Amino acid sequence: MIIPTRYKDKRVAVLGLGRSGRSVAHSLLKASAHVFAWDDQESARILAQAQGIPLNDLNMIDWTEIDFLVLSPGIPHRYPAPHPVVARAQTSGLRPISDIEILCTSQPQAHYIGITGTNGKSTTTTLIGHILKESGAIVEVGGNLGIPVMELNPLEKNGIYVLEVSSYQLEISPSLHFNIGILLNITPDHLERHGGMDGYIAAKKLIYKNTTSKDTLVISVDDLPCLKIYESLKTLGQTNLLPISTCKFLPEGIYVKEGILHENSHPVLSLKDLQRLKGQHNWQNVAAAYGALRSMGISTETIAQGIISFPGLNHRQQVVASYRNVMFVNDSKATNAEATAKALACYQDSPLYCLLGGRSKEGGITNLKPYFPFIEHAILYGEAAASFALTLEGSVPYTICKTLEEATKMAAELAFKHHRPGAVVLLSPACASFDQFRDFEERGDAFCQYVKELQETSQNKSEVA
Ligand code: ADP
Repeated sequence: MIIPTRYKDKRVAVLGLGRSGRSVAHSLLKASAHVFAWDDQESARILAQAQGIPLNDLNMIDWTEIDFLVLSPGIPHRYPAPHPVVARAQTSGLRPISDIEILCTSQPQAHYIGITGTNGKSTTTTLIGHILKESGAIVEVGGNLGIPVMELNPLEKNGIYVLEVSSYQLEISPSLHFNIGILLNITPDHLERHGGMDGYIAAKKLIYKNTTSKDTLVISVDDLPCLKIYESLKTLGQTNLLPISTCKFLPEGIYVKEGILHENSHPVLSLKDLQRLKGQHNWQNVAAAYGALRSMGISTETIAQGIISFPGLNHRQQVVASYRNVMFVNDSKATNAEATAKALACYQDSPLYCLLGGRSKEGGITNLKPYFPFIEHAILYGEAAASFALTLEGSVPYTICKTLEEATKMAAELAFKHHRPGAVVLLSPACASFDQFRDFEERGDAFCQYVKELQETSQNKSEVA
């Protein structure tokens, strides 16, 4: 656990008592700060109080007596409107900060690698952490994924924090300074929280905030917003830029051509057979990780070995089961159409039964149109089902179900019935999960469970027969 001693005797309000909020409160209490914690949800307050976190209704306190406001990243501080508590704090001149801000101001001696982008953050963060660990480095991995940062271990100056950072966290972490900052891609997402695309791009660009000439700025040049950032940084005279691409030749950079990873025009490794890093989108993650680690002086061989031995992440094109000639794939983490498009592109040669649905994002699935020919049958469920059906009408056969459970059964039935060898049932929903689940992990776990039950039923039937 990080104990942020510089907050000793400070009066710190903590708004949002999910896992990261509670861990901030615990760390601050250990550092002898005065903690004023609150959450709008009673259940979260009860849980926090049971863990010894002192509650104070932040709607009622005198903000002139508070030194800091630590905000959970899910709570708006600007758009669509600041949370009322944040608005009050801001009137008293307090700017909200994140747990990552507390980490980096408390552990300034360590090295920091930060990863952001619309998609691929968790994969790239975990991949870098994996390779560093394999290479014998002292490393802590966390942030927006997995372990909240205050639960990581303190590090000496030879230690490295590898942090996944969301656009929300970047906006409320003014002291962040990444020795290696990675920007993977930018496509529209979370626009309501940033007042539109310009605000979202500006937030992502903060990954390079406070960098010096000794740092490395790894940046994809494949999408227009990232390319513009790259060009503007170059124009400003940044010499430490490391461009990456999966579709362009970069004489001085890292790129992937026909499935082969290249460094400054030299072929390094074939990525074509990497089952846990399948598809061009994952090659972008590999290129970013490779570039970042090379800039630290790690050998090509060590990095290549780590890429090959990477075990992958659950809920990202995770193969759940294969039976009766059908492979079941859990890509529950695809919470937007952009991520789903990447998954669809990986199964172009397979009869594909795709489960789509949940709570739709802006634009729905219209940008999946180029991939419609690859879908044998779409199984739609949840809040988005009716609107997705309208988009698919006339292009893709579809069936509407109510729940994910029904949809999984339906997809399996269709895939088995058609006896097409190599069929794939893919959950890559292009939606948030909140209409039926707590989060994408609960949704993915449920899918895995339904698949397991179907497999057991199928085995029992064949035994009886
Ligand atoms: P994040 O943490 O940014 O949400 P993940 O690594 O968890 O990213 O992947 C989320 C989803 O995005 C997965 O479904 C995956 O198929 C897709 N994805 C992964 N990497 C990329 C990428 N570089 N570009 C676009 N989509 C990606």
